[in-house]
Amino acid sequence: MVQIQRLPQDVVNRMAAGEVLARPYNAIKELVENSLDAGATEIQVHMQNAGLKLLQVSDNGKGIERDDFDLVCERFATSKLQKFEDLMHMQTYGFRGEALASLSHVAKVNIVSKREDGKCAYQADYLDGKMLATTKPAAGKNGTCITATDLFYNLPVRRNKMVTHGEEAKMVYDTLLRFAIHRPDVSFALRQAQSNDFRTKGDGNLRDVVSNLLGREIADNLIPLALDSTRLKFEFSGNFSKPIAAATAKAALNRKTTRSFFSVFINGRSVRCEILKHPLDEVLQNRSLICQFCSVHLKIDETRIDVNVHPTKSSVIFLEKEAIIDEIRAYFEKVVNEIFGFAAKETDK
Ligand code: ADP
Ligand code: MG
Repeated sequence: MVQIQRLPQDVVNRMAAGEVLARPYNAIKELVENSLDAGATEIQVHMQNAGLKLLQVSDNGKGIERDDFDLVCERFATSKLQKFEDLMHMQTYGFRGEALASLSHVAKVNIVSKREDGKCAYQADYLDGKMLATTKPAAGKNGTCITATDLFYNLPVRRNKMVTHGEEAKMVYDTLLRFAIHRPDVSFALRQAQSNDFRTKGDGNLRDVVSNLLGREIADNLIPLALDSTRLKFEFSGNFSKPIAAATAKAALNRKTTRSFFSVFINGRSVRCEILKHPLDEVLQNRSLICQFCSVHLKIDETRIDVNVHPTKSSVIFLEKEAIIDEIRAYFEKVVNEIFGFAAKETDK
């Protein structure tokens, strides 16, 4: 008797969904990236119960064609990638066509969208990858609003594990904070019915965004980073706040008046990249310094990077990693030494 059988497609899809969207902040990241891919300049996030009851992202992007509503939540359906080779030149965050499908397998999804050239907005409901009824005309401005309710209603263990809503809400806040700082040209708003709510203007002024979200002290002490390596074909840019003596910083952190912020974007993607954080930390630690804010962007020639490492797209692989990291480390060391060289001269006077 045969013992191996194919899993039904809906089981496969639900298992995959749990991987892409492990926690509410994963859903927020995917939805915000879709809005950015749609060219949005205003993105609003609204959540209730840390996203478990309601999670909504609305934007003023290009919208979804009425005829595309049918496929929008189907797994591996995307407008961004046509053939595997396109992966070498991805300019968009998305390409796997998995996020909305996954969301519809772990929540009830509603989409309202209007194209600039459309007569009106349309809306539809989705469950398990499928549109539940035909699209209906709806009221709505240009752009898209995606609402997920009862997140993880069919994964009770996961839902119940998220008893500490504060932790989930904080992860969402951190995710949006990173986007807001990386893209000061886009207006981000977070409404969680909590003290962490914020709105950025989207006028391109990074200093204002940092001042608004992390405090004036950090914003007033930003130091730009810019390294262009023709040899290794990468650009390293960003900002960090003027490092302070570790003892002073620790006292401030203990008082919780400041929080330490570190974010890495690689080719526009927010990624976990300890191998980049580590050498920068080391440069500071060796000088008994602490930096309260550091936001860096590494741009690598697109033919030298693989972004398709994991469904959450939170890690990337790139060529000549060690050589690139070494160059960045040497550059950062030089910048930090220069700052403290100047500081020493000032005190000499
Ligand atoms: P991917 O982003 O990998 O293509 P998604 O499941 O995230 O996959 O989205 C599927 C498709 O739905 C996208 O390719 C895009 O065409 C459309 N879409 C999703 N969100 C938006 C949005 N906010 N505005 C316009 N189109 C969207
Ligand atoms: Mg996407």
